[in-house]
Amino acid sequence: MEDIVGLCKRRGFIFASSEIYGGYNGFYDYGPLGVELRNNIKQAWWRDFVHRRDDIEGLDSSIIMHPKIWKASGHVDGFSDPLADCKESKKRYRADQLFIAPVILDGELCGYVGFVEGADAPTIVKRAKKLRDSLDKKQATLDEEALATQHTEFTDATEEQRAQTLAPEATAVGTLTAPRAFKLMFETKVGPLADDSAVAYLRPETAQGIFANYKNIVDTGRVKIPFGIAQIGKAFRNEITPRNFIFRSREFEQMEIEYFIAPEADWKALHRDWIDQCTNWLVSIGLSPEGITEDIHPTEKLAFYSQATTDLMYQFPHGEQELWGIACRSDYDLKQHQQHSGKSMEIFDEASKSKYVPHVIEPSLGVDRTLLAVLTAAYTEDEVPNDKGKVEKRTVMKFSPKIAPVKAAIFPLLKNKPELVEVAEKLYKKLQRRWNVFYDASGAIGRRYRRQDEIGTPYGITIDFDTIEKDGTVTLRDRDTCEQRRVTEAELIDFLEEQIDG
Ligand code: ATP
Repeated sequence: MEDIVGLCKRRGFIFASSEIYGGYNGFYDYGPLGVELRNNIKQAWWRDFVHRRDDIEGLDSSIIMHPKIWKASGHVDGFSDPLADCKESKKRYRADQLFIAPVILDGELCGYVGFVEGADAPTIVKRAKKLRDSLDKKQATLDEEALATQHTEFTDATEEQRAQTLAPEATAVGTLTAPRAFKLMFETKVGPLADDSAVAYLRPETAQGIFANYKNIVDTGRVKIPFGIAQIGKAFRNEITPRNFIFRSREFEQMEIEYFIAPEADWKALHRDWIDQCTNWLVSIGLSPEGITEDIHPTEKLAFYSQATTDLMYQFPHGEQELWGIACRSDYDLKQHQQHSGKSMEIFDEASKSKYVPHVIEPSLGVDRTLLAVLTAAYTEDEVPNDKGKVEKRTVMKFSPKIAPVKAAIFPLLKNKPELVEVAEKLYKKLQRRWNVFYDASGAIGRRYRRQDEIGTPYGITIDFDTIEKDGTVTLRDRDTCEQRRVTEAELIDFLEEQIDG
C-alpha cells in the first residue's frame, strides 16, 4: 500500500484533501492523472453497461433529495454502524471491525486483547504480553495458538468480556463502551429556516435516486421488463474509521444499477448472471480473475426483505475486501416508496399482460475502490535493459489501455532536429483529437520511456530518421514487453483504436 500511495502522490494521481492544512481524514483529491484514470473507469462502465446494452437506461439524480426518500428507504432509522468508544484513548472503533482474542496465561483465561480488523499477529501478541505484564505475570506462558485463532467480533462480546478487554490503544482493561448505533448520513439544512423541518441529507448511496425516478422512466415509455437504470455519482457516509487510503472514505463515488425483473422471474439465475457479468467486467479493465472471489452472505445475516447478496471481493493490499455488492432486494424499495408517496409503482408487462411492482437486482460498485483495485493490479516492479543494454529496475503501472490515463506518448528521437519535431508534433496533434496522449521531446529516449512506464502509458511512439528519410513508419513500443516494431500511421491508428476502444 505504501508503494502505491507514494507513487500516487509523486506522479499526481491522488492527494490527501486539504493537504496544505494538514489533510482532512476521509477525503481525497484526484490529481491530473487520477482524474483521467477515474473518468476512464466511469466511461468504460457507462459504455459497457449503458451504451452497449439495449436494456439499461442512464440517470443523473440530485445528491440532496426530499428527506422523505430516506425515511421510506429506511436510512433515517436504520443506516448506522455499531460504534465503540475507548474512554481512555478517546479513539472510536467500528465495533464490527473490532475483535477480541483471549489472553490465556499458564492455561488460565486472564483477559482479552482488542484489535482492529487486519491487525497482524505480532501486534496482537505484543498487546497480549502488555496485558500479561500489567497483571504481574511476566513469567507465565502465553497461549499463542488461542490468541491467533479464537477471535470474537466486539459486537458479540459479553459485558463480562468487555470489562476484561485491553483496547487497542489503552493501558488498562475495561475502557471500551458497549457498541451503540452511529448514524452514517451527513445532515445539512436546506432553505432559510434553520429549524428541524429544514433537515436534509447528503445521499449515502445513489440507488435511492434511481427508485425515486423509476416511475418517470417507466412513464417515458422506453422500457419493458426486464430493464435496468444506471447511475454514477457521489455518495457520502460519515464513516467512523475511514482508512486504507481511498478504500473507505467519507466522500466517494458509486456506479449502481437497479435491474427490474418480473416477480415470478428466475431471480437466482439472473443473480448468477449478474455476478458473472460483473466479474467479467472487472477482468476486462485489468483485474486478474484469481484476485476476485465471491462472498455469499449467509441467509441469517440478510435484511428481512433481501433474497440473496453476493459480494465480489478483491485482494487489496490490506487484505481481501468487498469491491462490488450484488443484491437481490425483492420489491422492497419500490413498495416502500409506493406506500410512503402514495404513487403506484406498478408496471404493465406487455408480454404477460399483467400489472405488478417489479423485483430488483442491484449491482453496486464503488468508483474509488475500483480505482484502488486497478492500481493494485497494475503496480509492478520488474527489470528491463536500458539504452546501453544494462539491466535496470523499473516501476511500471500495467493499466489496461482501455483505462490508462495517458494512452500513448509521442517522442521525436532528438529535440534539436526540426524535421523530426515537425512530424512528431503533427502526429501528436492528430492523436490528441481522439485520445489523451502526451508529447515529450526532452531527455534520453530510455528515460522518456521509463517516465511513461511509471504512469502506465501503454504505448510509446518514436519518430526517428527512418520515419522522415525512408518509409514514414514509426517505432511502436509496448510498455509491458518493451518490444518495438515499426508500423505505418494507418496501422498505428487501427491498432490504438482496437486496444483502447475495442
Ligand atoms: P462496507 O461493508 O465496506 O462498509 P457496504 O456493504 O456498506 O460496505 P454498500 O452499501 O453495499 O457497502 O455500498 C456499495 C459499494 O459502494 C461498496 O461495494 C463499495 O464499493 C462502495 N463503498 C461503500 N462505502 C464506501 C466508502 N466509505 N468508501 C468508498 N467506497 C465505498
